[in-house]
Amino acid sequence: MPGKMPELLVTGDVTITIKVFELTSTGAPKLNSLMAYTQHNITNKLRGETMEYNRYLSNYDTKANKFNINTMATYNVRYRINYIVKLKKINRLSQLSGNDFVLAVVDRIGFKTDNLTTSGLTLRQGGPATVVYNDWCKYPNISMHEFFHTLGLEHIKGASSRKSLMAEVAGINNNMISLSELSIMNAYLMRGLVDMSDGAYANPTLNTAENLRKFLNNPTNGFKYNKANFR
Ligand SMILES: [Zn+2]
Repeated sequence: MPGKMPELLVTGDVTITIKVFELTSTGAPKLNSLMAYTQHNITNKLRGETMEYNRYLSNYDTKANKFNINTMATYNVRYRINYIVKLKKINRLSQLSGNDFVLAVVDRIGFKTDNLTTSGLTLRQGGPATVVYNDWCKYPNISMHEFFHTLGLEHIKGASSRKSLMAEVAGINNNMISLSELSIMNAYLMRGLVDMSDGAYANPTLNTAENLRKFLNNPTNGFKYNKANFR
């Protein structure tokens, strides 16, 4: 039962970097302003306290002020994290590393769900994420929607999706995120809590560049992008 567990309060700054890889054929003149808008809005949406119940973790040694990895305990974790979100433009694959989040900006996506045109396509839980440049111009929240898939959110369908950012069908008025969605994203971001508590955290075995290459070249996805710039 939630209330019976000891509570662990987690506070601090966490920086999230999203590398934006511009791969259009015609150029993306509004990219800087779209990135600034998206960075600002992701920061706003990730703000707020969340709880994660019954999390099985290393035991927190309050005297030593760190986790003791030799013993385990179950906690209700209260997160008060200050996420610092940075969108950074890159133009070379070599600028992608380890567990970077990546958003590739492309010309077109041929893949169709429910016969709808696809403006963005993302692998859940880590990415990569992609967006069609012209659609990002029309619907400025699309890249935030795609990034939130990266953090584990699914689509919301039907009547309750009318104002939801995660509605399957994009609209300029879709920008709401619920507390339960925030909790899901926070739990994903903080899944490495014990390692993160030591400071810098990286997952070098996650080969972002190779994952992006496979995703873009998967014929089922139907990507059109500037292949000469993918280097
Ligand atoms: Zn979506």
